[in-house]
Amino acid sequence: MSNNEVRNIYCIGRNYRLHALELGNEVPDEPLVFTKPSHAIVPMAGNVVSLPANVGEVHFELEIVLRIGRAYEPGIDIEQCVDGMALGLDLTLRDVQSKLKAKGQPWLAAKGFKGSAPLGEWLPYPGAAALAETEFVLLRNGEEAQLGKASDMLFGVAELIQYVGENYGLGEGDILYTGTPAGVAALHEGDQLQALWAGKPVGRCSVTFV
Ligand code: ZN
Repeated sequence: MSNNEVRNIYCIGRNYRLHALELGNEVPDEPLVFTKPSHAIVPMAGNVVSLPANVGEVHFELEIVLRIGRAYEPGIDIEQCVDGMALGLDLTLRDVQSKLKAKGQPWLAAKGFKGSAPLGEWLPYPGAAALAETEFVLLRNGEEAQLGKASDMLFGVAELIQYVGENYGLGEGDILYTGTPAGVAALHEGDQLQALWAGKPVGRCSVTFV
């Protein structure tokens, strides 16, 4: 599946305890789900990603992204629903989001802008057990900015897929951003970002503000 064939983009907020706390949020008791338009996707393949200038801080959030190959239905073996994974960035206009949160407004302006979902290369889905124990890393300008492990997710792969599938529907071509570990921070002009899965580079881009 190419990124052009992505249908719905579901994202999970506050799915790692330390990340929820670093932003002063409560740890949720059920998955916090939001969406991005498919126009948010850009490849993370050595390119320059354009970010909105003059709207405050733009934060990086590196996340495991799951690709749905088979529609969710009640009782299905969840492992059969997922047919690929990638590392992706859930780029966030943090100052805009803070204002939206204060007003109780939807997050679209903060999370759904064009280019807000850079996606690394698709890898075969290794299964929930292998996924749980594999570390993923975001390097910024060669230095470790985020280190995550799926076993630290508050809601694991099976719970997330069941929850999103039951409430909103999950079909072939949908993808799911599973939340970010701690370490998010503001991007600067020219920052070089690299995503590593089990130490292997699986996505790379730099950023510019326009
Ligand atoms: Zn996120």
